[in-house]
Amino acid sequence: MNSNPDIPVTVIGLGRMGQALARAFLKAGHPTTVWNRTASKAEQLAAEGARRAPAVADALRASPLTIVCVTDYQAMRALLDASDVELAGTTLVNLTSGDSAQAREAARWAGRRGARYLDGAIMAVPPAIGTPEAVILHSGPRSDFEAHKPALDALGTVTHLGADHGLASLYDVAGLAMMWSVLNAWLQGTALLRTAGVDAATYAPFARRIAAGVAEWLPGYAEQIDSGSFPAEVSDLETDARAMAHLIEESEAVGVNAELPRLIKAMADRSIAAGHGAEQYPVLIEEFARPGDA
Ligand code: NAP
Repeated sequence: MNSNPDIPVTVIGLGRMGQALARAFLKAGHPTTVWNRTASKAEQLAAEGARRAPAVADALRASPLTIVCVTDYQAMRALLDASDVELAGTTLVNLTSGDSAQAREAARWAGRRGARYLDGAIMAVPPAIGTPEAVILHSGPRSDFEAHKPALDALGTVTHLGADHGLASLYDVAGLAMMWSVLNAWLQGTALLRTAGVDAATYAPFARRIAAGVAEWLPGYAEQIDSGSFPAEVSDLETDARAMAHLIEESEAVGVNAELPRLIKAMADRSIAAGHGAEQYPVLIEEFARPGDA
């Protein structure tokens, strides 16, 4: 988190997130150049010490490192493909959200333009930027990440995931899958318990302990997935599928939504039909690893 304040940086895109990024650089003492399509969004940052570039090309020239944070990759390309924009020799860190294919294509595009390129994903909200709670993932050449880490450190807890430019986006969506799955599971349980007069606040600490307990299983289950061997050490999929049936029956009986439990059981049933009933739960990776029916 201790950045080197001598390094000049540029931030292109001053929406909610871009402003937070620029402000974090300023607070850490970096000479910070900013540019935004709607120029008025740079006013407050200029009052705080940022230098306003008159055009994108000037913004890029001002620093060896440019952070881009706009709505999407199309917007980034629309900005940087302009004929007067020189990218050769600069390093772009693109913190715009997108998918892994867009990230890899952007890396090829930047390479053709002579720029060094890191793709990034911000796992934080704007107010957290500049604090250790802001986790910012990067992928691309490690040497480029290491070269610019002394500046990037101003933004939060910055991490390099690997040379494949698509990794930051993949981790980003994998995190979303985890977040929504945990929240949906909690909502399912909360809906069930409310039918018996138990409010969400009463169930929340109980659910939290379950989520934390399940999280403890992940390293061991990951070993099974990586080795491709799923011995039923604590339970087998047949047993789990019977418990899933209870969840569906209970949900239907008390009149709450059973779509999610039915989906989970359908996947387990397919795996059992494929001969995996005597194996342990993570064997379902084979169901997750192929396109589904929807
Ligand atoms: P935002 O407040 O809506 O800002 C969007 C930015 O993109 C503005 O600077 C906007 O310029 C610019 N832009 C859009 N289209 C453009 C174009 N065609 N040409 C030039 N500039 C263009 O969004 P944000 O919250 O800052 O999000 C920016 C990125 O950060 C997104 O990819 C988002 O997914 C990611 N992110 C955001 C959060 C969050 O909590 N906000 C968290 C993680 C990741 P104008 O001001 O001129 O419209």
